[in-house]
Amino acid sequence: MPRAYDDDNIFARILRGEIPNDTVAENDHALAFRDIAPKAPSHVLVIPKGRYVSFEDFAAHGTEAEITGFMRLCAEVVAIEGLGLEAGNQGFRAITNAGAHGVQEVAHFHLHIMGGRMMGPMLSLRD
Ligand code: 5GP
Repeated sequence: MPRAYDDDNIFARILRGEIPNDTVAENDHALAFRDIAPKAPSHVLVIPKGRYVSFEDFAAHGTEAEITGFMRLCAEVVAIEGLGLEAGNQGFRAITNAGAHGVQEVAHFHLHIMGGRMMGPMLSLRD
C-alpha cells in the first residue's frame, strides 16, 4: 500500500472528533476504542494518532515516542479488558491487516486486540 495517507478515512475522522467512538484508553500518541462490529466479546482497535497507513508504514516511519506510546497503550488495553497472561487470564489475539492481501478496510494503521473467547485457528485455508 502506498504511503499516501487519506485524511478522510474513518479513523482520521474519529481522531478529529467528527465521528463518535467508545474509547477504552488514550495517551499522547495513541487511541484505543471498541470495534463497531465486534468479532469477540472484547474487540478493541488501537490506532496511532499520527498519519500512518499501515503497520509497515508505522514500523518504518513512526518516531520512537509514537511507537512506545502505541505499544504501552496496547498493554493498557490488555489489562483493562482482563485478557493478559501476567494477570492469570486466558489470553487474546492481536492482529493487523495490511493492503489488499491483508484485507485492510480502513487505511489508518490499527491493531485489533480480541479476546474473551477461544479464538480458534489463526486462519482457515482456502483458495
Ligand atoms: P480492517 O479490516 O481494516 O483491519 O478493520 C477495520 C475495522 O474497523 C473493522 O473491524 C470494522 O468493524 C471497524 N470499523 C469500521 N468503521 C468503524 C467505525 O466507524 N467505528 C468503529 N469503532 N469501528 C469501525
